[in-house]
Amino acid sequence: MKVFKFGGASVKDAEGIKNVAVVLETQGFDGCLVVVSAMGKTTNALEKVVETYFEKQDFQIKLEEIKQHHLNIAKELFTPDHSVFKRISDFFEEANSFLQRNKSPHYNFVYDQVVSSGEMVSSIILSNYLQEIGFNNSWCDAREYLKTDTNYREANINWEETEKRISSLNPNQCYVTQGFIGSDENSFTVTLGREGSDYSAAIFAYCLNAEAMTIWKDVPGVMTGDPRKFQNVSLLENISYEEAIEMAYYGASVIHPKTLQPLKQKNIPFFVKSFLEPTKKGTKVGSNLEKNHQESFILKENQHLLRIATRDFSFIAEEHLSLIFSLLAKHKIKISLMQNSAISLDLCVEDMYGLIDHLLTDLTTGFKTELIRNVSLYTIRNAKLEESTKFYQNKNVLLEQVSQKIIQVVIN
Ligand code: ASP
Ligand code: MG
Repeated sequence: MKVFKFGGASVKDAEGIKNVAVVLETQGFDGCLVVVSAMGKTTNALEKVVETYFEKQDFQIKLEEIKQHHLNIAKELFTPDHSVFKRISDFFEEANSFLQRNKSPHYNFVYDQVVSSGEMVSSIILSNYLQEIGFNNSWCDAREYLKTDTNYREANINWEETEKRISSLNPNQCYVTQGFIGSDENSFTVTLGREGSDYSAAIFAYCLNAEAMTIWKDVPGVMTGDPRKFQNVSLLENISYEEAIEMAYYGASVIHPKTLQPLKQKNIPFFVKSFLEPTKKGTKVGSNLEKNHQESFILKENQHLLRIATRDFSFIAEEHLSLIFSLLAKHKIKISLMQNSAISLDLCVEDMYGLIDHLLTDLTTGFKTELIRNVSLYTIRNAKLEESTKFYQNKNVLLEQVSQKIIQVVIN
């Protein structure tokens, strides 16, 4: 079985949905599972609905706009009497009535129940469209298959249960399902973290022992740098799982960091290709590939630089570090880079949930802190040392770390 993942950019409008069929035609449509994200910027729009709800403002206007947007797209794809229109409206009505009834004060829980609607509607539109044009497929609700814990907004997979359920799918059939979502023990919807659809696809691929997995992007494959941010980048045709994992870890947004591990474990070949040029080779990620030595650039934005020192100028020792790390974990703040000296610890961090001020408050009892907000972290892999440093010569470098052909600099 093959697993294909189509991200939000590939299904942002009716043309995008039609193009999925064009792509599938080039690949053969027998025995495949198609994982789809929410259309375009729907997830951001639904996040706004949740914010508005918690601000006790009128969230219904925003929800209605999102619904109309999807109905308009559907109008370009289906005849007016098609049952898909009711399905679309029903998903939004479900979100609406959930919010009307909801008593839970837990932001992350509420978020997952509402934001997941984006994938529900995109998948129902895609499945019905493919069916209309003769690509027989079954729509399946990913929440029946991906079982997780209750860590809302970043749920962890219960692999045993998930594998049992996914392996019941028929490998000769075609399915259309949602990325990004699953459900907990009590069947409440969970999400797997922003941009988590790649990860969903990898989970399906793992449990199905898929012959290959492909994600379809608006770039030709994995490049030596994000073409929107760097000049003179080129395509990496073959990379190893290890390299891809490293790139994702340093922030190459083309691959979600959790995606590679399940594929690597079962040696499932993984392709990143362009949905605009589906017959081109793109990038292949696999094992036993020759190590690639091309210099590559990765930019991670929206980072903060946190400088921590002890109040009494004593060394930052083990007890301090363990306290600092436990506070970071408590506030779900992720470290992108760290560097310590005798009396200070510098951390480049990502504040996914807007909790950094709480962290600072917790730290102030024991430490002096300085926070520089909104910095960028550049990583250069396979760096040619002399030349690479030229790249950031004229920038305001706040932190620099050089190790084994990897240069990392924090810049504001
Ligand atoms: N729709 C979700 C997001 O925008 C998941 C994904 O696109 O992978 O984060
Ligand atoms: Mg997306």
